[in-house]
Amino acid sequence: MIDPDRILRTFTELAGIDSPSGHEEAIAAELRSRFSELGFSVQRDSYGNVIASEDGDDPLLLSAHMDTVEPGRGIVPIRNGDRLETDGSTIVGGDCKAGITTILEALQSIKDGATARSPVQVVISREEELGLRGAKNLDFSMVRAREAVVFDGEGPVYHIASGSPTYLRYDVEVTGRAAHAGVEPEKGISAIRIAAEIIAELPNGRLDAETTFNVGMVSGGSVRNAVPEHATFSGESRSHNQATLEGQRIVIENTLTAARQRHPEAMVVVEFHIEFEAYKLDPESGIVRSVTKSLGSMGLEPEFAMSGGGTDGNVFRSHGVQSVVLGVAAHNAHTVREYVDLNELEQAARFCEQLLLHRTD
Ligand SMILES: [Zn+2]
Repeated sequence: MIDPDRILRTFTELAGIDSPSGHEEAIAAELRSRFSELGFSVQRDSYGNVIASEDGDDPLLLSAHMDTVEPGRGIVPIRNGDRLETDGSTIVGGDCKAGITTILEALQSIKDGATARSPVQVVISREEELGLRGAKNLDFSMVRAREAVVFDGEGPVYHIASGSPTYLRYDVEVTGRAAHAGVEPEKGISAIRIAAEIIAELPNGRLDAETTFNVGMVSGGSVRNAVPEHATFSGESRSHNQATLEGQRIVIENTLTAARQRHPEAMVVVEFHIEFEAYKLDPESGIVRSVTKSLGSMGLEPEFAMSGGGTDGNVFRSHGVQSVVLGVAAHNAHTVREYVDLNELEQAARFCEQLLLHRTD
């Protein structure tokens, strides 16, 4: 039986283990022991992802990620009615420990009931928040599953990501010339000033229904009293439309070209990188039909919506694992206002149980 008290306990214990991206050893050890107790053979690949496997043909991959964003140390979930939140000094870590809790609870519930279920493989990745690094480095030779459910979306479990955008990352480096700021400023070229001009000219925010643009980080200079020689800034643009995204790349190039013409003695360099590729979900695929059927058995209608972000599901897909990304009860993720809806978390666990019990019906 799905047990709301156990769900609360599991989530609180997992959230209490610090696991900012890159520091996942403690949570990985905890997951190893929990999945071992559930009867799985648990391994870590060379990158440190946790992979729990068992015998059986055509296993279903259940996936979530073990890392959390900052501020995410010393998390103490506080219950407020049907919500778990924090005192506002940290995230609550529902992204993605609510996903892990969902998987653990469904497996435990079925084990307690000693009922037959679909064979399962579990992948809990690390460094998802750093750009799907764990999934990108996942040892796919250890993954037998061809279908996956990724518990890493916002909102209730019936929120299904119907597609994700392509993600373009860019890093700009400006090199000017250092000089004493008080003695001979006219000999300097301020890299910060040039970077600021460029940033002010770049697009920003939501550009159209399927495209966004952001400058997310700036740094530069080393001391107060020198004309700064170096400045860098980094950003991203996402679009569900490949051509629009290509257009954004050209906008960046043109803005930099104009800056170089205004400041011929400075150096302005840009690097682009496509972080992940867009996809659109096929509603007729086997995994989508299994998910829809299990939701239906609970009286739930799927709600499909384009997602603005990428998840490990993007990477699984590129390795031939048909993946669906579902909501997992976390709201306001990546902010200290994040909360987990306990009713939705219980619902997600019930859904996961239904899926495993009836996948092969
Ligand atoms: Zn996440």
